[in-house]
Amino acid sequence: MDKGPLVLSEKPVIGVSACCMGSPVRYNGKGWNMLDFIGREKNDFIWCPVCPEVFSGLGVPRDPIHIAGESGSDAWKGNARILNRAKKDVTSHMLEGCKTAASILEKSDAKAYVYLDGSPSCGVYRTSLKNKRIGKPPGVFGSALYDKGYFLIPVLDLQSPVRWWDWKRRLLAFLWLEKAEISNKKELYDIWYRYKFICQELDEPWAREKGRELASLGKAVDDEYIRFF
Ligand code: SF4
Repeated sequence: MDKGPLVLSEKPVIGVSACCMGSPVRYNGKGWNMLDFIGREKNDFIWCPVCPEVFSGLGVPRDPIHIAGESGSDAWKGNARILNRAKKDVTSHMLEGCKTAASILEKSDAKAYVYLDGSPSCGVYRTSLKNKRIGKPPGVFGSALYDKGYFLIPVLDLQSPVRWWDWKRRLLAFLWLEKAEISNKKELYDIWYRYKFICQELDEPWAREKGRELASLGKAVDDEYIRFF
């Protein structure tokens, strides 16, 4: 790997909660076009809107749903149920709808997803606007994307130019790293040389520890370690 300029030659594909791209698919038939907040920059990406609740066959308008249990990730393990307002169990519908949405994102080659926090489906840190952030992925679809390693961006941050700028540079770093080929210690060093600053911003003690770990590596670095790193 040389140290030339970093270029992503194709427009990145980003999945997005369909209701945040103007589709009137929320339980109450509403939707907003949140992409308008980033103006012409929305043309720098290809957007793939999905709505796991509509793909579940629940229709519009519909009863709002909630998770009866700890979190959406528990619904995947059979330890939580998804109920609508009339207490009808729609768990199997929802899991199928989430699988359909995930397969569409996969086909579109999206590696990132802009999600609506507060949704029991697409939310990542909250499943209700009343709850505080609880620091683990509770939405049914959000938890699936989290587990699959998607780069997750909360849609509300598109309203702030500074936050969007910050998300965008991290996203581009993430996408570039996805494409980077690392097969030996020197290439691993080169990658770290480019990434350590962003890692230090996110978690300085962790980044410094990783830097020390790399510096103490022996000559031979096996593939398993490279993948792990
Ligand atoms: S399931 Fe997701 S895309 Fe569909 S309405 Fe709810 S938040 Fe929007």
